[in-house]
Amino acid sequence: MADTMQAMVFDKERGLPLKATEVAAPKARPGEVLVKVHACAVCRTDLHVVDGELTDPKTPVIPGHQIVGTVIETGSGVGGFKQGDRVGIPWLGWTCGECAYCRSGRENLCDNARFTGYQIDGGYAEMAVADARYCFALPPSYSDVAVAPLLCAGLIGYRALRMAGDAHKIGLYGFGAAAHIIAQVARHQGRELYAFTKGDDAATQAFAKSLGAVWAGPSDTLPPEPLDAALIFAPAGPLVPAALRAVAKGGTVVCAGIHMSDIPSFPYEILWEERTVRSVANLTRRDAEEFLALAAEFPIRTETHVYALDQANTALDDLRHGRFDGAAVLVPDSAIR
Ligand SMILES: [Zn+2]
Ligand SMILES: [Zn+2]
Repeated sequence: MADTMQAMVFDKERGLPLKATEVAAPKARPGEVLVKVHACAVCRTDLHVVDGELTDPKTPVIPGHQIVGTVIETGSGVGGFKQGDRVGIPWLGWTCGECAYCRSGRENLCDNARFTGYQIDGGYAEMAVADARYCFALPPSYSDVAVAPLLCAGLIGYRALRMAGDAHKIGLYGFGAAAHIIAQVARHQGRELYAFTKGDDAATQAFAKSLGAVWAGPSDTLPPEPLDAALIFAPAGPLVPAALRAVAKGGTVVCAGIHMSDIPSFPYEILWEERTVRSVANLTRRDAEEFLALAAEFPIRTETHVYALDQANTALDDLRHGRFDGAAVLVPDSAIR
């Protein structure tokens, strides 16, 4: 096995761009798997890390937490996976198992949690290591590139959708990687979809309709009918009062991002009548198991845009400026592209 590998490295002091670097190849310690990375989808959270909006990265760090790879080495004590298995590595990289949150089935809120591509080196690299207990087998019907965005956009989106309970009319604010996956899950569950985009983005509105939205329009307009719930995937605080105005009595507004600009003040009357605003943080392993089982049940079509590993800065920039619909995916091995 090679002693070094190529990685795109973020250094907090130096800031952007990520630097293509030859680093020591990681080794699997006890309980860990070493994987050859086939694909790593780019998440908006990666932008929040490199922009310093998430303040606690290890530095330097290799970003990326939607990793699809093949196990090439297992540390001692690894059960469940062996060499040659395809695994997915998500954002939740480690939890303590001892704090009050872990002990009450809320490991997503663990006081001591560590996250992939933030406090643990991630997948913008040719290889990555992960605690095997936090890795997942992936539905074989999906290619490496197609399945990668399911690992965060899909998982966190699914957790957000679950927080909407049995809401029938669902609004999606910010129709990016997460929304385009969750739209398909929501349609599969028989829900009615309303898509909100930044301004009059006709292309994204058409994309939303192609995925089953019954209505699509700008986020500062009201839908034709009040919604039962709204999921906010864009990091813009003003969407919270906008979504509250769009939901019916008793409706829920779920903020699904890890970071958001400030929420402007708003009159109590738009929250009154038992409307709820809540956030979603991280994922539990149970979320992942449930969601990946669902993804195996019916084909989720992910819209992906492939970039070479050393094009990671371009991928981040294109995401920042909304230059594509769906998800960006880094593919280290040019032979696969
Ligand atoms: Zn804990
Ligand atoms: Zn993510």
